[in-house]
Amino acid sequence: MSNCTIATCGRPLRPDEAHRVTCGRCEHRIRAWLRELTYQLPLLEASLQHDRTPTQGSVHGGRAHSPLPVRLDVLNLLGPAAPGTVRDHPSDQTGPTPVPAVLHSWAQLLADDLGKPLPRLHPVRGYTGYLAAHLPYALTRDWVGDFHQELAELIGRVRAITRTEPQRHRQDAPCPSCQGFGLVEEDWQPYIECTLCGLLLTPAEYTDHAKRVMPRLYRTALLIATHERMTHMSTERVTVRVLLLFGDQAEIVADVPPEERAEPQRYPAAEIAAAVGVPVDQLAGKRLTAAVGDDDRLSGWQLA
Ligand SMILES: [Zn+2]
Ligand SMILES: [Zn+2]
Repeated sequence: MSNCTIATCGRPLRPDEAHRVTCGRCEHRIRAWLRELTYQLPLLEASLQHDRTPTQGSVHGGRAHSPLPVRLDVLNLLGPAAPGTVRDHPSDQTGPTPVPAVLHSWAQLLADDLGKPLPRLHPVRGYTGYLAAHLPYALTRDWVGDFHQELAELIGRVRAITRTEPQRHRQDAPCPSCQGFGLVEEDWQPYIECTLCGLLLTPAEYTDHAKRVMPRLYRTALLIATHERMTHMSTERVTVRVLLLFGDQAEIVADVPPEERAEPQRYPAAEIAAAVGVPVDQLAGKRLTAAVGDDDRLSGWQLA
């Protein structure tokens, strides 16, 4: 069995992945970065303008030239695609390679390997789409590890400027594969990923799965809650004594020595008699247990 060639991964390839050099999880990551680049582009363009706060020179005007109206680091990243391919990196390149140049180079390399001319496309949206569309083929090429690494670095630089990173949202349902609570949805990503076992689910697959398992989980939670309440209730039972009958009322006192007793409380004698299965005229003097309600009234009569 061969392993994923992405340096930071190395997980074993499944039989259905054996024809290529990267695993499904790394493919998912590459797709997510390509998507993210298109979402980051407007944010990057918006970062082009300098903040209005003066960061250079002095307030007292010791500057020979007016400052550049735009940020050079952002301009470098947005810059036009430089000529050349990945295999033929221009050695005089200074600073990081601009986003369009990175995308164009890899798209060109892919087109060369496919033996097809590279179409002219939008420098970012067009070539991220082209790379994503041909990714299944790219994943069989030995250069995909370098592609993965260069995209990772590019995303890192872009995020550092836009100060925007996709947020991760933990999902309620456990993973259908490893049963752990590791499912995470990340902004802009097409899959929900298990951080424990690497399983990928589409949002529709997750919704189906959650619908199936969540009612069972909720039922279990409800049973636990009910059980706890019942346990709690049973600890709130008190022992009492029927002092005497007063008309159709039974006078109930706590089963404690007479000097500790509070005022007797009256309850319908017939109700108690029915509950404990003793004729009304034999209730007087009986020891009973009862549950204490929230209003301190007793119910759930049983013979002690
Ligand atoms: Zn991998
Ligand atoms: Zn899992």
